Amino acid sequence: MHKKLFIPGPVNVSEDVLQKMATPMIGHRTKAASILQKNISEKMMQLMYTKKQIMLSTSSGSGLMEGAVRSCTRKKAAIFSIGAFGDRWYKMAISNNVPADKFSSGWGKPTTPNMVDEVLSTGKYDLITITHNETSTGVMNPIEEISEVIKKYPEVIFCLDTVSSMGGTKIEVDKLGVDICITSTQKCLGLPPGMAICSISEKAIKSAKKVENRGFYFDLLEMYKYIQNKDHQYPSTPSLSHMFALDYKLDKILEEGLENRFKRHLEMAKYVRSWAKEKFELFADEKYASNTLTTVKNIRNISVSDLNNKLAKHGYMISNGYGDLKEKTFRIAHMADTTLDQIKELLSLIDKILNI
Ligand SMILES: *Cc1c(COP(=O)(O)O)cnc(C)c1O
Repeated sequence: MHKKLFIPGPVNVSEDVLQKMATPMIGHRTKAASILQKNISEKMMQLMYTKKQIMLSTSSGSGLMEGAVRSCTRKKAAIFSIGAFGDRWYKMAISNNVPADKFSSGWGKPTTPNMVDEVLSTGKYDLITITHNETSTGVMNPIEEISEVIKKYPEVIFCLDTVSSMGGTKIEVDKLGVDICITSTQKCLGLPPGMAICSISEKAIKSAKKVENRGFYFDLLEMYKYIQNKDHQYPSTPSLSHMFALDYKLDKILEEGLENRFKRHLEMAKYVRSWAKEKFELFADEKYASNTLTTVKNIRNISVSDLNNKLAKHGYMISNGYGDLKEKTFRIAHMADTTLDQIKELLSLIDKILNI
């Protein structure tokens, strides 16, 4: 039996979108490919509230995260981590010989504007990475406040991980002054995994021009030049299947209406949060609780894997805690096409199974 996924990626993908993945191939150097890629860019610009260049990468989101920190750090990167995905960005820098320092908040806590100000005021850093929505802890960072501080340091390239939030909550890339904003297909966008998307500023491109060893496949400067000079084409063969599906799915997202979509996500988040507070506890500081997934503190000491096995019999799946938080927490995603009714069904089933 196919299970309904309430995990923070990959998410359920509707039948019509899956069908688009099966579109017959076109040549990747054809006019049709250029048009397809240009159409996707224009729609992504609306979703991301940006006029900057959009770039697609045939990889999951991690590919562009690695590409950003490697291609654009001249001196040193300041990596702010509030959990597993912030830590990952630090590992990417170090393993690429990119000088970097990591600044961690306790798990369940956000990055604060003060922390950012203190670190950037040293003048040691020319690139900063922030996790918008930390999928391990269910924390959504106060990005408006953080971005106000970053704006005081115009020489710093601002990279933002919105892998688990873009498409599920409003992120105004240009207003926030984000230089490289990264997401991928398998979370709030509601597509199969395998493609990453970013916006990139002129400032980030200028910075990349001063970096000598940018790697090859994830060299953001080469990618950018290709798109600009070759009518929206890409240096290597992209996953055209994802592009057919993404182009179609973005129409559906824009048809739903961005504000409606964000509202639907918020309603689900509020419902899951209040359930979590009644039956368990929230892991995140509630002020910073994510709109796209909820991490629940397992104060009842239930066996999360047992619960998931029982849910599986009914055709549902949730996520255990991430890494060290396994069994200590569990996660319920409320993203992409999921509806409030489906969330209600899931939670009442959990209540029944646990007899709570
Ligand atoms: C899932 C996720 C990633 C990794 O993205 P992939 O597409 O799996 O490479 C990075 N950051 C966050 C916040 C995520 O949720």
